[in-house]
Amino acid sequence: MIICNNGDDVLEFEALEDEDVEEDEGLPLQGERTRAGGAVTGRGVEVEWQVPAAVSAFGDLLEETSGVDTNVCYQCRKCVSGCPVAYAMDYTPVQLLHAVRLGLKDLVLGSATIWLCASCETCVTRCPQNVDIVKAMDSLRVMALRSGVKSAVPEVAGFYRSSLQNIRLFGRMYELGLIAQLKLSTRQFAKDLDLGAQMMKKGKLKLLPEFASLGAARRVVSRASKLEGK
Ligand code: SF4
Ligand code: SF4
Repeated sequence: MIICNNGDDVLEFEALEDEDVEEDEGLPLQGERTRAGGAVTGRGVEVEWQVPAAVSAFGDLLEETSGVDTNVCYQCRKCVSGCPVAYAMDYTPVQLLHAVRLGLKDLVLGSATIWLCASCETCVTRCPQNVDIVKAMDSLRVMALRSGVKSAVPEVAGFYRSSLQNIRLFGRMYELGLIAQLKLSTRQFAKDLDLGAQMMKKGKLKLLPEFASLGAARRVVSRASKLEGK
C-alpha cells in the first residue's frame, strides 16, 4: 500500500498481487473517474482516490456562492495555457484556485486577476474537471466589492459600475455616455481621443441615446436589487 499525504488528507494506493501484475501488464489504465474521486486499474496497479473535502472556510464560502468546488482542480494548468489574459495577471487562474483552497482571502480578493479575467470561458471549455472559473471569478469580484476591498484594477471596476448605471438610465448601452462617465471617474481625459474620433467618423458612436425598453431594464435592475436585499 502506498500512502500519499495530500495536505490535510491521506490518499491510499493499493498495489495488486504479483499474479495480477502479470495479467494486467501492458494494458491501459481503465476505470471510473467522477468529480468526487475514482478508481483505475491496469499496468499492474490499482489506484483509488477521493477528492478531499474543502480545506478552507474561504473555499467553502466560494462554493456556497458560486457552486464552484475548487478542490476538484488537480492543477493540470490546461486553463492557464488557453487563457488569453494570463500574461497580464498577477496570479494565474490556477494559482488563484490554489490560493482559495489555502484560504488566502486577502490575496485573492486583492488580486488583479479577478478584475482582468475577460469571462471568455476558454478555461471552462478546456478544464477536464469542469471547474467553472468564470463563475468563481464573478463571485470573487462580488465578494471583493462587498468586503470593501479596493480593486487592484480600478478602471475595470469603474467600467462595470458605469455600464450598470448606463443601462439603468437608458435601458441599453449608450456608448458616448459611458465614455464620458469613465473619463470623469478616471480623470484620463486625453486617453484614446483619436480612437474616439475615428469611431465617431465611422458612425460607431451615436450622439444621442436611444431609450430602448427602459421600463423592462429598470424592472430587471430593481428585481436584482431586491434579491440582493438592497
Ligand atoms: S484546467 Fe481545470 S483542473 Fe486543470 S488546472 Fe485548470 S481548473 Fe484545475
Ligand atoms: S474566462 Fe478568464 S480566466 Fe478563463 S480563460 Fe478567459 S480570461 Fe482566462
